Amino acid sequence: MSRKSLKHNISKQNPVSAQWIGRFAPSPTGSLHMGSLAAAVASYMIAKKQQGKWLIRIEDIDKQREVIGSVDSILTDLESYGLFWDDEVFYQSKNEQWHQHVIEDIAKSGWLYACDCSRKDILERSEGVYDAKCRVSSNKVITSTEINSHCPDAAIKINFSHGHDHFEDQILNEQSFTSAMQKQDFILKRRDGIFAYQLAVVADDIHQNINHVVRGADILDSTPKQNFLYDILEKTKPSYYHIPLITDDKNLKLSKSINSPSLKQVEYLQDQKKVITKSEVLLKIFEHLGQKIESSLHSLKPREIIEYYIDNWDTKLIINS
Ligand code: GLU
Repeated sequence: MSRKSLKHNISKQNPVSAQWIGRFAPSPTGSLHMGSLAAAVASYMIAKKQQGKWLIRIEDIDKQREVIGSVDSILTDLESYGLFWDDEVFYQSKNEQWHQHVIEDIAKSGWLYACDCSRKDILERSEGVYDAKCRVSSNKVITSTEINSHCPDAAIKINFSHGHDHFEDQILNEQSFTSAMQKQDFILKRRDGIFAYQLAVVADDIHQNINHVVRGADILDSTPKQNFLYDILEKTKPSYYHIPLITDDKNLKLSKSINSPSLKQVEYLQDQKKVITKSEVLLKIFEHLGQKIESSLHSLKPREIIEYYIDNWDTKLIINS
C-alpha cells in the first residue's frame, strides 16, 4: 500500500474532532508584546508537539477598540518569529450570525435576563460586585426570540448562580473560584449590541473545533464561565492550559493597557538601547516557559529555534518556571 493511501485510510478512521486543534486568539488592539508572544509560542508548541493544527483567530468584534494596522503587525510579527499558522486567519467579526444562533440556543435554558444597571450603579450599590438586582427584581427571562427586541438600553446577562466554581487546568492543576466577584452573573450581549467576549469566544471555539485552549493566566477567571456555557450548549469543553504571565519590573502583567513595549521596542530597547535579536527574544520566552536552553540555540534563527522545540518541548516544565 502506498504511503498516500495509508494516510488517507488513517484520516478516514479518525473523525475530524479527534484531531488536536489549538489556537492563538489575539485582539487587534495593538502590537504583540512579550506576554502575548509567550501565549502564541506556548499554544503553537503544545499543538505542534501533538502534530495538531494551530489556528489564528483575530478577536475583532469590538471595532471601537481595534487599532488600525495591528492585525498586519501581529501577523507579520508571528511570521518573523517563525510561527506559521494552519488554515486561513479567522476573523471573529465575520461570525456574528453564528454568535446570534449560539445566544438563542443558550436562551432556551431560561437563564438570560435584561440588566440596565450601569457600572456606577453597581459600584455604589455593592462595591462593583453585581448583586443580581435585575434578575431578582424583574424576574424577566429573555427568550430566544427576544434576544434582539429586548429593552435596547440593557445588557443581556446570564444567571451564573448554578455555574461551576472549579476546573482542572493542564498546567496549574485544580483551580477554584469562590469569591463573589468570580461568581457574579455575567454579560453575553452588551447594551451597545455587541456580543461579549465570553459568548463570542465559546461560540468561535466551538465553530473552529478547538479542543485545546492555551492562553495567559489572566483569563483563568473566565474559564468557569465559559465552561458553564459549554454545558448549557451540551458541547464538549476544551482542555485548558493557562501559562504564567510575564510581568514588568513593577510586577504588573504586560498588557496593551499599561503600554507594555511592543516586540519591536523590546528588540531595540532591551539592555540599555543595545539591539537584541528576535532569536534572543524567543529564547527569553522559552526560558519563561520553563524550557531548557542549550547554548547552541543562541546562534540559530527564530524558525530554527521553533523547529528545535517542536522536538524538545516539554509542557510539564511550564509549572516550574
Ligand atoms: N482575545 C483575548 C486577548 O487578546 C484572548 C482570548 C482567549 O485566548 O481566550 O487577550
